[in-house]
Amino acid sequence: MRWKEGRKSENVEDRRGIRVSRGMMGGGIGTIILVLAALYFGIDPSVILNQTTTQDAGVPPGAVTQERSDEENRMADFVAVVLADTEDTWHELFRSSGKTYQEPKLVLFTEAVDSACGFAQSAMGPFYCSRDNKVYIDLQFYHDLETRFQAPGEFAQAYVIAHEIGHHVQNLLGISDKVRSLQQVADKGQANELSVRLELQADCLAGIWAHHADRSRKIVETGDIEAALRAASSIGDDRLQKQSQGYVVPESFTHGSSEQRVRWFKRGNETGTFAQCDTFKTERL
Ligand SMILES: [Zn+2]
Repeated sequence: MRWKEGRKSENVEDRRGIRVSRGMMGGGIGTIILVLAALYFGIDPSVILNQTTTQDAGVPPGAVTQERSDEENRMADFVAVVLADTEDTWHELFRSSGKTYQEPKLVLFTEAVDSACGFAQSAMGPFYCSRDNKVYIDLQFYHDLETRFQAPGEFAQAYVIAHEIGHHVQNLLGISDKVRSLQQVADKGQANELSVRLELQADCLAGIWAHHADRSRKIVETGDIEAALRAASSIGDDRLQKQSQGYVVPESFTHGSSEQRVRWFKRGNETGTFAQCDTFKTERL
């Protein structure tokens, strides 16, 4: 992926090395988060934890000064460039349909973080919180992507950000709200299916980003799309479930299977059109 010349976004909030305490969210919920963490990532935690509210960490957070390695600095630069690239792409696409894109913030953190959607730990993986319009990521996740999920490569890392930005786009367009209110009156299976549709659409939107970023800024190199597809496929619910429990229960999917994730990313990437990403109206999910 060609990114070194790219513009760096000013919307990165660097909270690495800042300690946060669990505050009110000790015990039960913390455990649930950890369990979910092991299974899923990328989900807006407010979807799961309807009860969570913004809370004070209790202990004033203290900044810890840390020496950063060259690699850490490089990763932070990379994230800032990818974020800037999503800004350019979505500004353009919103403008062309007569809307205005509002840029989200991206928070870098280590180990744990407080968001408007609640306290979160790194093990949850990157997530987007619709209550504060922020994407949260611990760069350590990229290491896991390589080792645990066997999806190396910069473009796989960029895809992860683009997917979370996809959730931001859904939020701006009012799709996330609509889904949440539908979920409140749905049974568990239906609510789950709505989550899957939301997630697959975010994958498709990540594909749209890849499509336009490459056309206007030529960032994609040979093998990049395959790397993103590998990432999409390695973090499908079926694979994650198999890894963690040894069998697959499709009704409990909240992100979609590996095959579905790959297919929707490809669709966005090949067409570059929002209309092709309507996972809510499709016959074949
Ligand atoms: Zn997601």
